[in-house]
Amino acid sequence: MEELKKIWLDGKFVDWQEAKIHILTHTLHYGGGVFEGIRAYLTEKGTAVFRLSQHIKRLFYSAFALEIKIPFSEEELKKAILETLKINELKEGYIRPIVFLGYGKMGLNPTGSPVQVAIAVWPWDAYLGEKETVKVKISKYIRIHPLSTIADAKICGNYVNSILASLEVKNSGFDEALFLDFEGNVAEGPGENIFMVKNKKLFTPPLGTILPGITRDSVIKIAKDLGLLVKEKKISPQEIKEADEVFFTGTAVEICPISQIDDTLINQGRIGKITKMIKEVYQKAVRGKIPKYSKWLTFV
Ligand code: PMP
Repeated sequence: MEELKKIWLDGKFVDWQEAKIHILTHTLHYGGGVFEGIRAYLTEKGTAVFRLSQHIKRLFYSAFALEIKIPFSEEELKKAILETLKINELKEGYIRPIVFLGYGKMGLNPTGSPVQVAIAVWPWDAYLGEKETVKVKISKYIRIHPLSTIADAKICGNYVNSILASLEVKNSGFDEALFLDFEGNVAEGPGENIFMVKNKKLFTPPLGTILPGITRDSVIKIAKDLGLLVKEKKISPQEIKEADEVFFTGTAVEICPISQIDDTLINQGRIGKITKMIKEVYQKAVRGKIPKYSKWLTFV
């Protein structure tokens, strides 16, 4: 990956190469940390972070779920993110805040471990490559059961589930995996939520087993503003394969049209009209070109 200048670590900027941790860092062993994935875009008025407050709120919710007390306020972390972009002179890119349990104590009960916070930023273009559409394969793994972990929190350890599914599709001719939930319904991708279009209506799986995506929320608002009916409902694998259009949403992938699920072509393998329309509005919204969505931007 490309190296930038500085990483924010526990309230101070350190050189990129010096942002190091001890090998007995608690989170490294057990996955008990939380993180966020945020994007910044270049607009006509300079660089702006997309939906910063919502991402920071989710970070605090994830920490609360794991009983981690973040030693900074929401405001302090928002400011630190803007400063990290500035000091690295990054105009557009990805922002990764992580809250983790540091060195000091081993054992599964983390109480008493020091809490550390880091923020790194880097350029990151198309997450799933430059192809216009992606092919997805239903994974043999199911999305984490909501009674096995706190599935709606962005907990580091939860992502082993996503890693396994990503390894499964690697070299298979597919671009990304798709998880079903413990009831056999469509859940989400390893790092994306999913939507389908049927008869000009938009459907997406309900909250419960999935990460409540901030892009998912933006798309629901955009679609409603476009006059589309949006409904959260359980979707079977058969139903999604018979959809008119299907797409992923996520901070990293943005709006990503799906052309194939397993062996089934969606919309004959082409981007659907509604997907295209939502993608265009999203791309304009993140770059400050639609006044009613400018409230979603925090300028650096
Ligand atoms: N699901 C999972 C499992 C994810 O990791 C992500 C990425 N954060 C998403 C969905 C999409 O969420 P968002 O739109 O907030 O990036």
